[in-house]
Amino acid sequence: MQENASEQKGVLYIVATPIGNLADITQRARETLSLVDRICAEDTRNTRKLLNHLGIKKNLIALHEHNEQQKIDSVAKWLTDGEQIALVSDAGTPLISDPGYHLVKALRERQFKVIPIPGASALITALSAAGLATNKFSFEGFLPAKEIGRKQALIANSESVYTQVYYESSHRIVHCVVTMSSIFGADRKVVLARELTKLYEEFFSGTLEQLHQWLLEDKMHQKGEFVIMLAGAKAKQQQSERFESSIDQVLSVLMQELPLKQAAKIAAKLTGKNKNALYKQGLSVKEKK
Ligand code: SAM
Repeated sequence: MQENASEQKGVLYIVATPIGNLADITQRARETLSLVDRICAEDTRNTRKLLNHLGIKKNLIALHEHNEQQKIDSVAKWLTDGEQIALVSDAGTPLISDPGYHLVKALRERQFKVIPIPGASALITALSAAGLATNKFSFEGFLPAKEIGRKQALIANSESVYTQVYYESSHRIVHCVVTMSSIFGADRKVVLARELTKLYEEFFSGTLEQLHQWLLEDKMHQKGEFVIMLAGAKAKQQQSERFESSIDQVLSVLMQELPLKQAAKIAAKLTGKNKNALYKQGLSVKEKK
């Protein structure tokens, strides 16, 4: 297998490009784009602008979600002929909510060499400055366009205790936040990263309800590109732990004045919890003392 790979002269380079600020192009990306024989680009007009900025003239091939499968054989042939090829998307890292997965998978299966040239990605850029837990997180990409699909995807994540990262476009941002609020609760902590690395870059941090208000208070807040990061459901667990401990306190105070049965009955009225469950909880409060 490896022998086969080394026989192939051509290499496919997966080149990350800036997500807004052109100064974020890396030295290796620049060198790779200068050296390759062709560049496969999601949108050749966009990539041409970047190449003009870098002073690079290159043969550009359109490779997007509608023709990616058909291009695999052509790319494989060019690589077999010894060409060096780069894959870029409009912005950020190819394959991350961008074309390239089918190409890379097929080329790896055919033992071609694929080399990543790392750089910007909105996901990591946003997460790195959000102040949410990063030890574990899930990248959710774009939610489905249809309401039912969006809700299903969000419900599937509602119990996740990890930070969740979503991509969203300007025309759906408000609706997305409203739907999230209906599923995760208006008080779920969220961080929104808008226009990363660009002139109007900003972060909003608060609850889903506060984010909704912030989006509505100024139409400018709804413009541009967004990464939405939701705190995990852990906060909810802590809330419920806090709730339980405040019930312990209520029971404890009531039990100083009343028999347990009566204390449980009043606590049930105050908290909305079942009185038998509160009776048991009262017993364990007594035991702890
Ligand atoms: N491949 C890209 C990456 O590595 O981040 C993502 C491409 S995806 C088609 C575009 C989405 O990424 C946007 O709709 C937005 O959600 C997010 N995004 C890209 N650039 C951004 C930026 N400068 N600020 C905020 N979000 C951005």
